[in-house]
Formats: sequence, C-alpha cells, structure tokens
Amino acid sequence: MSKGVVYLVGAGPGDAKLITVKGLECIQKSDTIIYDRLVNIRLLGFAPAKAEIIYVGKSPDRHTLGQSEINQLLVDKALRGKTVTRLKGGDPFVFGRGGEEAEVLSEAGIAFEIVPGVTSAIAAAAYAGIPVTHRDFTSTLAIITGNEDPLKEDSNIDWAKISTGAGTLVFLMGMANLPQITKQLMDNGRSPETPAALVRWGTRPQQRTLVGTLADISRKAASEGFKNPAIIIVGEVVSLREKLNWFEKKPLFGKRILVTRSREQASVLSEALEVLGAEPLEFPAISVAEPEDYRPLDLAIKDLTKYKWVIFTSVNGVEQFFRRLHYNNRDIRDLYGAKLCAIGPKTREALEKYGLIVDYVPNEFRAEEILKELQGKVAAGDKILLPRADIARKVLPEALTGMGALVDEVTVYCTLTGAGQTGPILDMLKTGEINVITFTSSSTVRNFVDMLGAADISSLLSGVTVACIGPVTAATAGELGVRVDLVAEEYTIEGLVSAILKYFNK
Ligand code: SAH
Repeated sequence: MSKGVVYLVGAGPGDAKLITVKGLECIQKSDTIIYDRLVNIRLLGFAPAKAEIIYVGKSPDRHTLGQSEINQLLVDKALRGKTVTRLKGGDPFVFGRGGEEAEVLSEAGIAFEIVPGVTSAIAAAAYAGIPVTHRDFTSTLAIITGNEDPLKEDSNIDWAKISTGAGTLVFLMGMANLPQITKQLMDNGRSPETPAALVRWGTRPQQRTLVGTLADISRKAASEGFKNPAIIIVGEVVSLREKLNWFEKKPLFGKRILVTRSREQASVLSEALEVLGAEPLEFPAISVAEPEDYRPLDLAIKDLTKYKWVIFTSVNGVEQFFRRLHYNNRDIRDLYGAKLCAIGPKTREALEKYGLIVDYVPNEFRAEEILKELQGKVAAGDKILLPRADIARKVLPEALTGMGALVDEVTVYCTLTGAGQTGPILDMLKTGEINVITFTSSSTVRNFVDMLGAADISSLLSGVTVACIGPVTAATAGELGVRVDLVAEEYTIEGLVSAILKYFNK
C-alpha cells in the first residue's frame, strides 16, 4: 500500500471564511480530518461525506489525546495510505505544536505539507479594530506565549528585554496568568499607562473586547469574568480601536438568533444574519423526509406531458421532484407541454438551475394572492400538477379546483419534527441568551412549540424578539400563544433579514 500524505492546515482564527483556499481544498480531498478545539466546526462540513473525523482537542475539563498520541495517530493514518488533514486553529506554527508534528512525520518518512493559516494573534486584534503595527506607533511586533508562569525562576521569556523591546506585544494562552504578565511588564519598565486590550473569541460573532491599561486591565478582566480563549494586546496601537472598531459595530452584532429551518435550508438564513454580525444558532424544528408512498408522484411523472401547468411552491418541492424524476429515468424534456409557475424567487432560481424558464412568478407569495393573479391564466379543464409537502395548506388546490381546473396534488416530501436537543435551548431562553427567534413557516412554529413542550410558552418567550417570514406564519404563531414582534414585508429570507435589521435599527 502506498503511503498517505498529511496536510498540516491552519483553520484560521474562528470566522470559518478566514481559512485559506488551499486549506479548504485539503479538507475537501481528505479521507481523515484530525482537528483541535479552536477550529470552527463548520469547516468540517466541507469534508467528503465518508471522511473520518477525529477530535483531539484538549480542554481544561476533558483531555482526549496527548501530543505523542496525536503524533502517532497522524503517522498511523498516513501509513494506512490515508490523505490526512491535521486541522489546527489559527496558524499551525504559531503556538500550535505544528512544528513537533511535522518533525515526527519527517522522521517517519511520511510526505507532508504545511498550509499556513491566519493566526488569532493578528486576526483577533484586527477584528477588534487594532492593527498590530502602524507607522505612527510601532514597527515591531512580538507574539509571546502567556502559558508560562512569568514568575518562575527559569522562564524561557527574557522579560527584561521583551517588556520594552517590541512596540506591540501579543500574548496567546495568557488569560490565567494575566495579573503576573502585566506585573512583569511593568516591573521591567513598560509604562503602566500603556494601552492594553483583551479579545475573546475573536473573529466570531461572540467576540468580546475589553480595553484598559497595563495597570488596570487585569482587575477589569477579573470583574468582568473575562476568560479564554483570548489574546492580550499591549501597546500604543490599542488606542486605534476608537477609530477602527468595525466588526463589533455591525448592525446585528451581539445578537444570538435562533434559526428553526430544516438543516438543509438553514445555511442561507444563517449566513445572511452572520454577515450583519449576528450569531446564528441553528435549531431545526423541521426535517425533510421522503414521502411514505411514491406512487401518486410516480404516476404524475409518467403522465407529465398531459399537464398544462406545474406549480412549484418551494425549493424543497423542486429538488425532491427532480430527484424522483431522475429516479424514474426521465428528465426535463418531459416538461415540454407544461407552463411552469414558481411561488417565490428562490423557487424560480431552483427551477432555473435545471435549465428551465419559469413562465409565471406571482407578485405576492400567498395562496390567496396567487389565485387572484392566476384567474385568466388557468382555464376550466386544465390539468395542473402541484408537487408539494405532505402538510401544505389546501387553499391553493381547492381554489384552483373551484376555477374548474383538474388538480393533482402530490406529495414529494414529508416534513417531520426536528430531532435536536431542547435542553440547551430552554436554558438559553430562560437566561435571556437568545435575542431573536425566526420562523420561516407555520410548521416551524408549530413544531418548535411542540418540541419545547413548555407549559407557558408566552412567558418563556417574553424577553425574545419573535420574527416571522409572513402573515400566515405569524397567524399560526398567534394561535399558539406566541407573541409576534415583526413580520417581513416581503415573504422571503431576504425580506425576513431586512425586517430584523429594521427592527433593531429603528
Ligand atoms: N495556532 C493558534 C494559537 C493556538 S494557542 C493561532 O495561530 O491562533 C491557543 C490560544 O490562541 C488561545 O489560548 C488564545 O490565546 C488564542 N486564540 C485562538 N483563537 C482565538 C480567538 N478566536 N480569539 C482570541 N484568542 C484566540
């Protein structure tokens, strides 16, 4: 068997998008991913579905593998011919023990590559509005471990030299030793007035920054309970934050927003919220499953050419329909006779991906409005196919029937209640750690209320902003005793996001 290869990859500081293109390519082609604690787990989603994913992170309360065991694991996997990505937070060679791992691989004769990453030492500072160098302030930067007890006799750090030897000092892993670090710096000649900052969970939506001076930062940190993972920045450049703080000024920064859509669909909403600085928390209240009985759909597919209209009401509906079409060994050529209607711009885009031109997209995305617009387009006796979810509302098919059309409503997918753990969500709701809940359909509200099983839902949600995608969803929420704070004007994900934005910036 040929030997594998190991990529020592820097995952970047936390914001998943700060991984390098090369790093991402390594993840995408690996058989095995071995990752650390500070790696954004979203990156694991880019691994091939059959990749083996191994967590080896250390955390104060949980010790998984020691360093020599990790080294051995890398060697073993590579000897078995695997392509391995060893994924580390930040840069692999900046206090990441990447050097030691590379040495072991080299000694074992295993091919390896280093893919540098964006280190938190620079990126967390940047996201706090602090440039680590600046012509007006300093031309030197030192990155130092704060892991070592600075007061121990045989310290590897020459405090007498480092304290004033570089303009900007960035300490990693230093929170536990913060009082000793600041004391050492001052004892060794650094002015107590020197600006200092702490940045926790830098580049992530949870980022927190604390600013002070060398003299008081440690006391401030203690009183705020400021903990790891954080970097400590000491130097005049910290004062630039007043002008350059940008990330924490994003309009939804600091807001934790619950996304209740299905796992497959959540990411579009999550990403849009994250761009605005919010922290999306995915808690799918619905999941999409195959219909129990495919026969009605298969029959419709067999007779596809006889339909005058096919009306798609959701992206899921489109995707599941075409999956089954191909399963039946058919393709879009069978749709030549039908006009296509898509409810909503996303549904239209989903159809366009199959090379189809959509004949009609209603201006409003509610069944009642669509019907008004369809009058005159649909004639009595027209055969209409409506591929939908099992629980879809009956308004549309009933009204179309009322117009004399012959409607075949077939189930292309089922919606089930989500299977997530409700405990942590309940806790966060009680402690006010969730700011907004988003509902993108009636079923997300219904299932969410069911899943929580709270006796008094209205008091549980009293401190939370409830955001609904449209009036139908809002009405369902109302019926279930959920107070609604905002409803999107345009019933799309973009509409929902802009309504949330408007609500918080009014
Ligand atoms: N190789 C990593 C550093 C690993 S040491 C890098 O280049 O970033 C772990 C330390 O990095 C933590 O104790 C903390 O000081 C720092 N750190 C990592 N990610 C961080 C983040 N998102 N925000 C603040 N500090 C972070």
